[in-house]
Amino acid sequence: RRQRQQLLLHTPAVTRDGETIELLANVELPSDCPAALAAGAQGIGLFRSEFLFMDRHGQLPDEEEQFQAYRQAVEAMQGRTVTIRTVDIGADKPLSRTEQRHGDEQSALGLRAIRWSLAEPQMFRAQLRGILRAAAHGPVNVLFPMLAQLSEIRQALEQLEMARAELRATGLAFGDLQVGAMIEVPAAALMIDQFLRHFDFVSIGTNDLTQYTLAVDRADESVAHLFDGTHPAVLQLIALVIRQGLAHGKKVCLCGEMAGDTRLTRLLLGLGLRSFSMHPAQLLAVKEQILQSDAKALRNWAEGVLRSEEPLQLIEGEGAELI
Ligand code: PEP
Ligand code: MG
Repeated sequence: RRQRQQLLLHTPAVTRDGETIELLANVELPSDCPAALAAGAQGIGLFRSEFLFMDRHGQLPDEEEQFQAYRQAVEAMQGRTVTIRTVDIGADKPLSRTEQRHGDEQSALGLRAIRWSLAEPQMFRAQLRGILRAAAHGPVNVLFPMLAQLSEIRQALEQLEMARAELRATGLAFGDLQVGAMIEVPAAALMIDQFLRHFDFVSIGTNDLTQYTLAVDRADESVAHLFDGTHPAVLQLIALVIRQGLAHGKKVCLCGEMAGDTRLTRLLLGLGLRSFSMHPAQLLAVKEQILQSDAKALRNWAEGVLRSEEPLQLIEGEGAELI
């Protein structure tokens, strides 16, 4: 078994009909990067930077501390791209998990993620400067979470430009970035054409996209049975984003939990997804699914799933089947 794992580790993720698939890792801290590399990740598709900010008891990391953390991740990945998401604080990721949560932070519909960053421009630009400086040490993407409005896109890009100007003024070294948007609010998925114009790439956050499309709180166990990324409404939004990304010639990644669910690999391939980002522990199992798949044959089947009124049945080891 060990030998098989080793072999799998060094086998490129290519489908039976020759489609090359990108397999990336999700990490929470720079110290997660070596494990991602060891599992064969071709890069970091989602660095959840908010974990640097959590449980700090009011002392949030400054530009320098963030720069060091991002640089550590970049160096650990040895030339592979690191996609750093700006803080996605709020809702299920409060600044403090120990102190009492209050007001804004509590609501999934409140002042979270990009909304929080835009409300704290000094803090936002310090993060962007840290990310830009890390980009001088290797390939870096920046990713904005929870965008829902074109005005948020404009403001976020403006802040990024200001951060660059500030670094230029101080003479600190910084590098080029590819800029991406998380597509995790139905509004963003429905306006994907307008969104794509402003970005180099997008990444579908199916955890939040499912939560907001189905109005099911992802953290509420009493409705966990209703939380389903294979609900046709969610699948149609995913399919739309993938299709339009392709049409615009821009990369579409998927970094929600669905990307690491081996029962869904074939479905996502069939919907046209070519870039998956997941917990490092899932990388090899997903690769195994890819190696056994025929992307062309899956395309027709996935079209049928999208049109179907029947629920999907998820069969362990077999993947998704229509009932
Ligand atoms: C998502 O929403 O799918 C996602 C990847 O981001 P997070 O789980 O950190 O909200
Ligand atoms: Mg999210």
